[in-house]
Amino acid sequence: HYRARSAFKLVQVNEKHKFLRRGAVVVDCGAAPGGWAQVAAEKVIKRRRIVEELEGGDNGSRGSNGNDSNKSASRESVDKDNSTTDLRDGMVIAIDLLPIEPIPNVTIIQADFLEHKTQANVRRALGNRQVDVVCSDMAPLFSGNHSADHARSMELCESALDFAEKVLKPGGTFLCKVSQCHQPLISLLPSCQFYQFIARLTIAISQFLMGGTEQELKQSLHSRFRIVRHEKPEASRKKSTEGFFLCLGFGEGKARVA
Ligand code: SAM
Repeated sequence: HYRARSAFKLVQVNEKHKFLRRGAVVVDCGAAPGGWAQVAAEKVIKRRRIVEELEGGDNGSRGSNGNDSNKSASRESVDKDNSTTDLRDGMVIAIDLLPIEPIPNVTIIQADFLEHKTQANVRRALGNRQVDVVCSDMAPLFSGNHSADHARSMELCESALDFAEKVLKPGGTFLCKVSQCHQPLISLLPSCQFYQFIARLTIAISQFLMGGTEQELKQSLHSRFRIVRHEKPEASRKKSTEGFFLCLGFGEGKARVA
C-alpha cells in the first residue's frame, strides 16, 4: 500500500534500529511521492482521534456508549488507520520540491529545502516541538557528471544535517541518503572481487586526495551522534549509488555539549 518502493528502505532500516516510535516527531526531507512519509505516519501517529470519532466524537456520546469491551474492539479495528492533532501525539512534516498527494496526518510543504525560508517554515509548522527523527532521502536530478552529482548530493546531506542540529532533541535520530561519486565505475566492472577491490581502492585514494567530502561528513556525524552506521537496506538495489547514514543519539557524539 505504499506509493513508492523506496518506502521499504525506511521500513528495513527502522526494523533494524527501531527509531520510529509512537508519539515521535519526524521531519522527512525530499519526501515525494510520499513513501517514507506514509511509513513514518503509520509508526508515529497514535489513533485516538479516529477512535473518538467512532465512539461518537464528543465526550457526551462517549459517555453514553461507555462499554469497555466495545471500546477496545473499535480501538483494534481503527488502529490500522489514522488521526489526531494532539500535542502529545506524533507528527510528520514532509518537504519536497515536487507536489505530494495528501497523506493522512502528514503536513506537506512543497519547497526547496536548501532555502532558508523553507527551513523557517518547517520550524514554524513544528511550533515549539523538538524533533525525534530528521530523515532525508533527498537526491539531486543526476546530470551524469559524477563528481558534480556527488557534490550536489553532499550539499543536500549537509543542509539536512545543519537543520537537524537546530531541531533535534537530545538523543534524536538522523537518517540521510548519500550517493558515492564513483559508484558507476564499480557497477560497470565485472563483479570479480579483484576488479571490485581495485576500483574501491582507486576511489578511496582519489577521495583522500580530493579531501573526501564524505569523510568530512562522516566525521561531523561522529562528533554529534553516539552511533553512526552506514546502511544499505535490501530494498536498495545492489548496483545503485546510494547508501544511508543512520545516526543515533544526537548530542552524545565525541563533541559532547556540556
Ligand atoms: N523518500 C521518497 C519516498 O519514499 O517517496 C522518495 C524521495 S526521491 C528518491 C528524492 C526526492 O528528493 C525527489 O522527490 C526530489 O524532488 C527531492 N529533492 C531533491 N532536492 C530537493 C530539495 N533541494 N528540496 C526538496 N526536495 C528535494
